[in-house]
Amino acid sequence: MSENTTTTAVKRVFVKTWGCQMNVYDSERMTGLLKPLGYAPTDVVDDADLVILNTCHIREKAAEKVYSELGRLKPLKEERGMQIAVAGCVAQAEGAEITARAPQVDIVFGPQSYHKLPEMIARAARDKGEVLETHFDVEEKFDALAAHREADGYTAFVTVQEGCDKFCTFCVVPYTRGAEVSRHVDMITAEVRQLAAQGVREITLLGQNVNAWQSPAPAGTSGDAWGLGQLCRHLARVDGIDRIRFTTSHPRDMDDELIAAFGEEEKLMPYLHLPVQAGSDRILKAMNRGHTAESYIRTIEIIRAARPDIAISGDMIVGFPGEDDAAFEDTMALVREINYASCFSFKYSRRPGTPGATMAKQVAEDVKNERLQRLQALLEDQKQAFNAAQVGRTLPVLFEKHGRQAGQLIGRSPYLQSVFAVGDPALLGQIVDVRIDGTMTNSLAGSLARDAA
Ligand code: SF4
Repeated sequence: MSENTTTTAVKRVFVKTWGCQMNVYDSERMTGLLKPLGYAPTDVVDDADLVILNTCHIREKAAEKVYSELGRLKPLKEERGMQIAVAGCVAQAEGAEITARAPQVDIVFGPQSYHKLPEMIARAARDKGEVLETHFDVEEKFDALAAHREADGYTAFVTVQEGCDKFCTFCVVPYTRGAEVSRHVDMITAEVRQLAAQGVREITLLGQNVNAWQSPAPAGTSGDAWGLGQLCRHLARVDGIDRIRFTTSHPRDMDDELIAAFGEEEKLMPYLHLPVQAGSDRILKAMNRGHTAESYIRTIEIIRAARPDIAISGDMIVGFPGEDDAAFEDTMALVREINYASCFSFKYSRRPGTPGATMAKQVAEDVKNERLQRLQALLEDQKQAFNAAQVGRTLPVLFEKHGRQAGQLIGRSPYLQSVFAVGDPALLGQIVDVRIDGTMTNSLAGSLARDAA
């Protein structure tokens, strides 16, 4: 029996996650780290011996939401005495303030410290005082997480890069996650091999600025530093891995090699999330994005020339300080030009400590609301049109789990759409041709091509 299986799962951990894919991934890894200590995950907070709030600082009033959640947990803690931990970007940004305002909290730790969670839990229990860990030692975290990766299904996220040096004026990430750091290619390859051996067929490489990833070439090879395009080609050679995705990218880091990989590497899925945030050059400059609307459109044209069927996704912010009607119309024009397959859109909200928060000409809330509605209506039309264009096509679908209806399976198309089809459970984990018969609000319905033929 291995060391990891000697402890019976007698304790329960409840994890609540806000925010981005990186946080979802971090939460999964925390649960994995706690398993050898005997913690099993629970969805019921009342049953928990340990509650972890994995927080996000991107949205408005993020910290207030955490404090109100902590308020709800206080009587539960008094009754049951469980440990409470606050993790993620609010923890990083607010640090000691959290334990001062909410003494029921035992542990506060930033996104770069969660690999020390077992040690922090022990310290908090032993010292009966709060533990605060908000260092930025990403490399140490990468090292610690390389071991004992457990797959949970046929798809998996793999962190390859963390942090951001871009300092967009609306964003807290450079302050909460620190500078850009890349994981070494050998470490990533080892983790992907482990996952493939456990049945994972699709990996999504994660990073705040994933296409800024770079690493010395792998051990035993010579040559220059590698970029993300080379990493994707390299991982495509790992036995068992059939699909590769990555997120989130920055337009400035879409280099020629990465674009060429889209054209040449079939396992690199034809789906790219490339946020632009606004369509006005004046606003893009105020946001410190480091690109123009025109350069973004040109980049997409080059990518589409390399991979004509690629689906483009993005992020948009409306109501950034100084956005007047003309600037907003520029955003609408850019969206019409790009024609997104899917796109996230948000109202600008002031993040304390960022330059945008103190800029003049903040936009009134009702104006932001009206613009967001118009933008979202356009984006929804584009998404529905993209989905409708798949009807009648046959797409390879990686079936991942059972659907709600009897006999139904759910999988993903190459374009990251959810696809429902009736099929044998033995097809789970397989990539199967599915004829798309129709669309639903957020998914596609299909039938197995071999049945439909
Ligand atoms: S590129 Fe801009 S929006 Fe993206 S994480 Fe960095 S600062 Fe934030």
